[in-house]
Amino acid sequence: MAGTPVNTARKNERTLNFWERMYLPEVFKGLGYSFRKMVKEPVYTFQYPEEQWYPNDSYRGRPVLVEEEGKARCVSCNLCARACPPMAISMQSQEMEGPKEREPKWFEINMLRCIYCGFCEEVCPEEAIVMSKEYDLTFQDRDEAIFGMERLLVPKERLADRLDFLHSRQNPQFGNDVWDYQRSNNRHSLKDSAFLAGLAREMDATASH
Ligand code: SF4
Ligand code: SF4
Repeated sequence: MAGTPVNTARKNERTLNFWERMYLPEVFKGLGYSFRKMVKEPVYTFQYPEEQWYPNDSYRGRPVLVEEEGKARCVSCNLCARACPPMAISMQSQEMEGPKEREPKWFEINMLRCIYCGFCEEVCPEEAIVMSKEYDLTFQDRDEAIFGMERLLVPKERLADRLDFLHSRQNPQFGNDVWDYQRSNNRHSLKDSAFLAGLAREMDATASH
C-alpha cells in the first residue's frame, strides 16, 4: 500500500502506510518483546535488596581507609584531599610514636560530595585509601553523610580484591619494587636521623670536592 507523508509540506518526510499510522502493530510488537524477555533466560535484573549485586574488582564504590594491624596506614600527608575535585576529604594530622610519626587525628569524607572518581586512591603514596565495592549508601540527614574514621577504616584483609587489582594494573616498566606497598616505606620521618645524617655526609662530601 502506498504510504502517505505525515507532513506533505516536507518532501523528505518518511511516509507511513495504513498500519504504521495506526501505531497498534508497533505497540503489540513492543509488548511481545517485553513478554518474551520476561520468560526467557538470562535474567538481567536483580530483586534488590533481597538479591545483592557483587561488583567486580575494578568497580569504584565508596572510598575507604586501609587498616593494618588495627591502625590506619594513612600518614596524613593530605595529598588525597588536595586531589579530590569536590573537596570531599578533610583531615587533621597529629604526631605519634614510632617510625611513621604522623597519623590522622581525624579524617572525614563527605559522601554527599564524593563523585567516586578514585583520584584519592591514585595519588595516595601509601595505598592507604582505596575504592571499595560498597555502593548502597543511605543517610537520614546531611551530618550522617560525613563519614569519620570509625566508618572509613576497613581491615586490609577485606580489601584484598581491590589491592590485588591495583597491583595487577601497575605499570610494569617501573617494576614491583617501586609499586608494591612495602611496610618499610610507610615512614615519613624528619627524625630518621640515620638517613638524614647519611644524606648530609653525602652533600658535604660533594661540596668539598
Ligand atoms: S573518590 Fe574522588 S570525589 Fe570521592 S573522595 Fe576520592 S577523590 Fe574525592
Ligand atoms: S593520600 Fe593517603 S596517606 Fe596521604 S592523607 Fe590521603 S589517605 Fe592518608
